[in-house]
Amino acid sequence: MRNYTQFYIDGAFVDPITPKTAEVINPATEAVSGTISLGSEADVDKAVAAARRAFASWSVSTVAERIDLLGAILAEYERRERELGEAVTEEMGAPLSLGCGFHTLLGKGHIGTALEVLKTYKFEEERGVTMIRKEPIGVCGLITPWNWPMNQTCVKIAPALATGCTMILKPPQLAPYSAQILAEILHTAGVPAGVFNMIQGAGSVIGAALSRHKDVDMISFTGSEPVGVQIQKDAADTVKRVGLELGGKSAWIVLDDASMAANVAGATGGMMGNSGQTCSAGSRLLVPAARMEEAIAAAAGAANGVTVGDPTGNFAMGPVVSKSQYNIIQDYITKGIDEGATLIAGGPGRPEGIDKGWFVRPTVFVGNNDMVIAREEIFGPVLVMIGYDDLDHAVEIANDSDFGLGGYVSGEDLTVARDVSKRMRTGAIWVNGGFDFNAPFGGYKRSGNGREWGVEGFAEYVETKAIVGWNAAG
Ligand code: NAD
Repeated sequence: MRNYTQFYIDGAFVDPITPKTAEVINPATEAVSGTISLGSEADVDKAVAAARRAFASWSVSTVAERIDLLGAILAEYERRERELGEAVTEEMGAPLSLGCGFHTLLGKGHIGTALEVLKTYKFEEERGVTMIRKEPIGVCGLITPWNWPMNQTCVKIAPALATGCTMILKPPQLAPYSAQILAEILHTAGVPAGVFNMIQGAGSVIGAALSRHKDVDMISFTGSEPVGVQIQKDAADTVKRVGLELGGKSAWIVLDDASMAANVAGATGGMMGNSGQTCSAGSRLLVPAARMEEAIAAAAGAANGVTVGDPTGNFAMGPVVSKSQYNIIQDYITKGIDEGATLIAGGPGRPEGIDKGWFVRPTVFVGNNDMVIAREEIFGPVLVMIGYDDLDHAVEIANDSDFGLGGYVSGEDLTVARDVSKRMRTGAIWVNGGFDFNAPFGGYKRSGNGREWGVEGFAEYVETKAIVGWNAAG
């Protein structure tokens, strides 16, 4: 049992001002796995005051000091990586191989990337008579979701620290453990008091208080679209910057070539990773209509081959994060059946032989792009396959979405794949499965307005100042 009832404020682990606790449930067992505290607005005021005080010195720290600090954080993160991964598995149900693999690797990658960007980032640039300075924006409220907790936390904390900002982290209530360990890592690594603060609790209390706070200069939020909209409204009165990384309904276009079936199988397997709880998951799989039978065999084969079970065992897929998420996904599966989509793998209920835990069957439908299951983010292991007539049609379907986060193109002809990728209206496209920590990540349309990862991630945390007359006119 984990007992994480203290917050991290002003360089120390402290009790909440008003004690209030909540149990955390292990989604694989439905048993209580630990206790956290739920903070109040008074805790937010205390943390913001600490961050504001610390900003005076941290904002003028040298690049060398910040490089040293990020290096120390990286080393301490690596030392406790296994513990972090185990916490991720326990809190949100990712298989241990994933929790201690890609989950923690992503967090580490963002810290390392920020460290490298910092070494060459241009904080000052002279342009004619003017000096352009990139200055830290100030006190940042960082609000994160539960689905890739270390990824989403480190992608905010690392550039915020690197640019000289101070911050208050509000981790997800469903997955609070890894953030608590991260706070210990930052403490041990020597982050100065007040630069990093962390308060656990309800989004509607802590998140809203941060969004409305007059002394918070920026909110960086990753999560669902409705909450993103609410945060923008809450932040409006204080005209703070709001970076939003929201949901998606990303299309995966498989080109009509010899590798079509293998690419369909790969895309289907990819969709089931992390139990389908990935904002940029390729949840609409677009395949040549003329080859639908082949595509169905490949997708069904891949989905049926995904083993589901105890995340501490040797299974490819664990549970989804919570009972309520399980119920939402079940409703979508029912909706898909009711609206006439053809179920080719999975379906309602838990996988055979499992009667406890929030496990969902890897599910694949064949449908069309007007169906609810093709339009709304399900956030579970549910894929809808849609046939296209030609590439113009494929691009039209891909772009016919309220969202614009990710996109995928798989195929043998790189020239065609590149052309298709340029025509898709989303913030990121992966061609044949590439991966790059320096590639900016963020959404078009209702998928958000910010960019994280790499050098673009820095721009979120800086203000641009022009000092005209820095140089005398020549
Ligand atoms: P969520 O919006 O319910 O919660 C996200 C965070 O916001 C949590 O910490 C929550 O406590 C907090 N919150 C809730 N209400 C709030 C309020 N009124 N004010 C301020 N904060 C509040 O999302 P979730 O269920 O934790 O995560 C899943 C969602 O996140 C999906 O929609 C997914 O697509 C999205 N997501 C997006 C990205 C991206 O980079 N674009 C990445 C991962 C997840």
